[in-house]
Amino acid sequence: MIPYKIHLEEHEMPTQWYNIQADLPNPLKPSLNPQTQKPLTPDDLSAIFPMPLILQEVSTERWIDIPEDILNAYKLWRPSPVHRAYNLEKALNTPAKIYYKQEGVSPAGSHKPNTAIAQAYYNKISGIKRLATETGAGQWGSALSLACSTFGLECTVYMVKVSYYQKPYRRSLMEVWGANVIPSPSDQTNSGRNILEKDPDAMGSLGLAISEAVEDAATKEDTNYSLGSVLNHVLLHQTIIGLESKAQLDKVNEYPDVVVACCGGGSNFGGIAFPFLYDKINGKDIDIIAVEPAACPTLTRGEFTYDYGDTARLTPLVMMYTLGHDFVPPGIHAGGLRYHGESPLVSQLVKDNLVEARAVNQLGCFEAALQFTRNEGILPAPETSHAIRTVIDLALECKESGEEKTILFNLSGHGHFDLTAYDDYLAGKLKDYEYPEEEIKKSLQDLPKINL
Ligand SMILES: *Cc1c(COP(=O)(O)O)cnc(C)c1O
Repeated sequence: MIPYKIHLEEHEMPTQWYNIQADLPNPLKPSLNPQTQKPLTPDDLSAIFPMPLILQEVSTERWIDIPEDILNAYKLWRPSPVHRAYNLEKALNTPAKIYYKQEGVSPAGSHKPNTAIAQAYYNKISGIKRLATETGAGQWGSALSLACSTFGLECTVYMVKVSYYQKPYRRSLMEVWGANVIPSPSDQTNSGRNILEKDPDAMGSLGLAISEAVEDAATKEDTNYSLGSVLNHVLLHQTIIGLESKAQLDKVNEYPDVVVACCGGGSNFGGIAFPFLYDKINGKDIDIIAVEPAACPTLTRGEFTYDYGDTARLTPLVMMYTLGHDFVPPGIHAGGLRYHGESPLVSQLVKDNLVEARAVNQLGCFEAALQFTRNEGILPAPETSHAIRTVIDLALECKESGEEKTILFNLSGHGHFDLTAYDDYLAGKLKDYEYPEEEIKKSLQDLPKINL
């Protein structure tokens, strides 16, 4: 009998990350310097990133060694368990077998420390003293605060102002780990001051907080910038999730027919999916599904084109699915899925039909999250509930068809800091948002014109 939880010993933890750039059927289009529109050079990035991460960003080596200090820091919570969702299967009366990788066991409660730890380490060995970053609801900010405290770096977090006041507990957590948390827009940067001049009560956005953190890092010698998703090196670090999952399923002679994860910037999705995509690219029959909110439908309704990563147009131009850098999504509770863009790697894989993208609505997600929690006990983050909605739908399809599919999904994080969202759901205060086509068209009109 397959156990409820499948563990790896610490010595069985993977010692290399998997770099899917080695195996892409169509290589990525180069990212462009926002001023010159010429392909980025390592020098363009060296003001804000350390060289080891810049080299990982463009590497096409298939396997990249994980340094020992990072492996040791991972061991605080890794390897994370894979669970068999026996109770949920029974409740759904499905012949499908459901497995989930539990990334909520990290100190910050999500998958994000997998890259935060690595980024802090490479900055530390490159002589950097401080990292600046942005955070929306606080998941990334708390992961980086943890990582900076692990490696003795200072940490400045620009936190979107509306969350700074509405979600004080993640801010407390960051401060406990020693970070300096600043509500954005702030008066510390030109990008922030520009906004405050026009609207002193501006509540901020993730795109603007990115502009502030990048400006902070670019203008100070001892400070670098750190991004929690989207970039190639971030997804690289996250592949430990899928590599462990593969080894764990292998222990019980299982292999998934379907892999599912929610998709905001693409990092937890890439993390669990890329090691399985390696098999798919090499001919394996497996479905890989990325799930996003219908309220921020980047992959399903966006355009595959060059766009900026931020509102102030400071970041490089990257080829990705985007809703336009001015796109402001409605205030759904899955804050981590409200980004206008998407990882270039995930975008290319969707474009090439190796990954299927689906969009689901908020109410159905919370309904699925409750069903999951009442059977499996674990309270998922609202982001994760998008994957759970899709998994339950797949399991119910199996019930109809009698198919015994093996489904693996990423439980990207727990929802202990998101109880206001659950309160609102239980009180009937939430609603669904389908983004109107005209609005999407409007924000796509402002896409940069590129002359290649
Ligand atoms: C940040 C976050 C996400 C979304 O980010 P990705 O980069 O798309 O993974 C999903 N789940 C949790 C729990 C998060 O904290």
